[in-house]
Amino acid sequence: MISYHVFSGKSLVYKLSDENIVEETLDRLFLDLNLCYFCLGSITDGILPDCLHQACRQCIYQVIENDASCPHCKADLFLTECTVISTSDPLIKPIESPFGHSYIQENTVGLASYHFDPLDPYISYENAPDDWLLDNNQKPPEKVKFRDWSYNPITRKFRGNIVWTEATFDGDALWKYEFVFSRNFNKIESGRVTSYNAENEISQVTRFRNKPRQMVHDGLVYTLNQFPLILKANDKKLQ
Ligand SMILES: [Zn+2]
Ligand SMILES: [Zn+2]
Repeated sequence: MISYHVFSGKSLVYKLSDENIVEETLDRLFLDLNLCYFCLGSITDGILPDCLHQACRQCIYQVIENDASCPHCKADLFLTECTVISTSDPLIKPIESPFGHSYIQENTVGLASYHFDPLDPYISYENAPDDWLLDNNQKPPEKVKFRDWSYNPITRKFRGNIVWTEATFDGDALWKYEFVFSRNFNKIESGRVTSYNAENEISQVTRFRNKPRQMVHDGLVYTLNQFPLILKANDKKLQ
């Protein structure tokens, strides 16, 4: 029998007789004391993410900027799935199209991130590692535009081609993208990239994976770039 004594204005005693109820008891303790699962401090401006691990607004923003997964349960964190505890309102407006947004891997902008400029969607290589080189040993351009692209708002499917004109990239001359956004536009939920060599033969097919980043060992995981949304939300709070 273990008992926890917690003093924070009021005092509570929880008796834990079974390891299976530790999590449940912890949850009750966090809720009773209105504690943040991220910083363990008491919450003033509380936000409830989809995984139900309540946190301070600034802690949510900070975690999304660093890693974008809940430090308690490792679930992906999305601003679009957060609720303001005091008002029960969604934290931000729902997203209804990929345009005006970008999608990133490894929570890094410019690491082959996809930018849905409404007129000219492109891939950014601004933060590509030094060993990402074209076959002429040059770095890929910072912006490579999708060609012959299309987007169907009903199916949420995007199609587009990246053509390597200056030099091939790992032997590839063409990458054909075909992928589908999740219903709430938080991530790319399915699809593939088909690569073709200079002889127009398929060299590789890479699939998009719809799983938390930590669980994926192959394929592509792209999630909504939330940095601009945090900036916008912070701006609104200052007004
Ligand atoms: Zn906090
Ligand atoms: Zn969580």
